[in-house]
Amino acid sequence: MAKQKGSRIIIHLECTTCRTNTDKRSEGVSRYTTVKNRRNTPTRLEIKKFCPHCNSHTVHKETK
Ligand SMILES: [Zn+2]
Repeated sequence: MAKQKGSRIIIHLECTTCRTNTDKRSEGVSRYTTVKNRRNTPTRLEIKKFCPHCNSHTVHKETK
């Protein structure tokens, strides 16, 4: 079993364009699940990822 120190936590990333983009080809919001190190990244994480709903690379922001 790997030791968990509690600094790496699971977060969810959500497409920010999906909320405002009405021309997207399908309903829904693109979400990614990843982990981050709370010590290295105390702020909200923002990563550019491919969104299948917007059909392009968009900024995905961390949700709570
Ligand atoms: Zn999107």
